Amino acid sequence: MSPRRNPQRLLDAIATEIREHVPCGFEICEQAKNLVPGEGSATAKVMLVGEAPGAREDESGRPFVGGAGKLLDRLLEEAGLERGDVFITNVVKARPPGNRDPKADEVAHHLPWLEAQLDVIRPKLLVPLGRHALARFAPDVKITQTHGQVIERDGRTLFPMFHPAAALRNPRLRETLHEDARALRDAL
Ligand code: URA
Repeated sequence: MSPRRNPQRLLDAIATEIREHVPCGFEICEQAKNLVPGEGSATAKVMLVGEAPGAREDESGRPFVGGAGKLLDRLLEEAGLERGDVFITNVVKARPPGNRDPKADEVAHHLPWLEAQLDVIRPKLLVPLGRHALARFAPDVKITQTHGQVIERDGRTLFPMFHPAAALRNPRLRETLHEDARALRDAL
């Protein structure tokens, strides 16, 4: 089978490159316990993109496995999806030390991997989780104005949602996130 027709093999190759690329001179990569490429279906119609791994993700090498991940699983269920149906990753594949915001050069260092994953999966719907992820795809709009709606940018169909971690801190946001998950079900 040609590699183009075997998206899983291409995704696996990207994941291997991410996990094995250190040393690279970037603190964010070299201090990580594990880089976190992302996981899910290579033929997913929906791809979710968070900001960067946290402590639990750094330990396990898997995306969204902490508290925010548990909420994300419930939101997926409300949208009629399971983890195995989607692909979940982050803009930045390594945990920023102390959970600080990733720096611009760190984001630039990691972005080609996200673009490569998008190129393989070609999802019908891209779900940026939170304002940092949204800024990579639609820097001209605010998440407060676009969450829970379909927007088109650069040939991609986006469905921005608030970040589940933000909703864990703010119960009102959590209700909005559940409403948006139901809107995602309708959009699919
Ligand atoms: N927050 C993120 O943005 N990504 C993860 O993988 C976990 C928490």
